[in-house]
Amino acid sequence: MYPRIEIDLDKLKHNANLLSKKCREHNIETAVVTKVYCAFPEIVDYLKDSGVKYIADSRIKNLKKLSSIDLEKILIRIPMLTEVEDVVKYSDISLNSEIEVIEKIDETCAKLNKKHKIALMVDLGDLREGYFKEDELFEVVGKTLELKNVEFVGLGTNLTCYGAVIPSKENLGRLCELGQKIEEKFDIKLSFISGGNSSSLHLLDKGEMPSRVTNLRLGEAIALGKETAYSQDIKGAYQDSFKLVCEIVELKEKPSIPIGEIGVDAFGNKPHYEDKGIRKRAIVGIGKQDTNVDGMSTVDPKQEILGASSDHLIVDVTESDRDYKVGDTIEFNLEYGALMAATTSDYVNKVFKCEEKLAENV
Ligand SMILES: *Cc1c(COP(=O)(O)O)cnc(C)c1O
Repeated sequence: MYPRIEIDLDKLKHNANLLSKKCREHNIETAVVTKVYCAFPEIVDYLKDSGVKYIADSRIKNLKKLSSIDLEKILIRIPMLTEVEDVVKYSDISLNSEIEVIEKIDETCAKLNKKHKIALMVDLGDLREGYFKEDELFEVVGKTLELKNVEFVGLGTNLTCYGAVIPSKENLGRLCELGQKIEEKFDIKLSFISGGNSSSLHLLDKGEMPSRVTNLRLGEAIALGKETAYSQDIKGAYQDSFKLVCEIVELKEKPSIPIGEIGVDAFGNKPHYEDKGIRKRAIVGIGKQDTNVDGMSTVDPKQEILGASSDHLIVDVTESDRDYKVGDTIEFNLEYGALMAATTSDYVNKVFKCEEKLAENV
């Protein structure tokens, strides 16, 4: 059944092994971030033995699906007050930035007779989540330490998401310094300093990762084999663990310029066309309702995506060496946003492959 995403579990596992090993060489534990593929249990179960210490996701619903997997779970989006009960039930650690939420987590722990670990987020300038002011951070550390049912384990930060700020030895150094100040001020030891996501990896290669960082949260680096500070492929990692396969529903030779007065397309944009004469055009059954088509590219470099509407995507196959027929399939690589949308779409089937075996469908 098409369209479908084919997921090569062995390639993903290779990437997870490679990166967790690299992190461990720097005394850093890896959390595999599973949100970009909706935490499919088929994937996470396969990755659990790849040297990662934690599973991390932004959505508590995803972590709930993974309850039977015996690794510590981190909720990486600041919890909503209204989901605190599930946060306590289905995650072991949460990243926090509001004392009301932390107090509610503490109360809920008492009610459910459970423990929960709290890390506090620090905003180092990317201007998404976290404490920006040092005195506010210290005040909340003090209040959290007074709570009976939660354990304050350390700090975290997130960069290169909203503000596109690149992790450096200076900004992560500041995170570690804050950790040290907290240890001295409150006479405690912090076991958890989470130094960001796939955009922090470049510091390992440069030998510039502050030594107090104990954890990284890696999504894209494992899923797509990319570091995200400079968008470079990671050496030795696979970039093609996910492949989108779509079926040709129409194949015809047509002019490259539409006939008639040009208004706006289905999404209100005024299109621009280049006249390349008569071209062989394949329509495949996928569209903007299923994925972010701008993040798709054909595996065959001789093909070109011409455009898409809600349910149809047009590919120029004139130069392709293959002689396509209706019912044949065309393969695409996906960037992060396209992968995220396609895995989330109910209209896209998922096929998990491992060691040459095919396991059908979620
Ligand atoms: C999404 C996310 C990550 C993972 O980011 P990648 O760039 O995919 O590695 C890590 N931490 C937080 C808080 C996130 O929201």
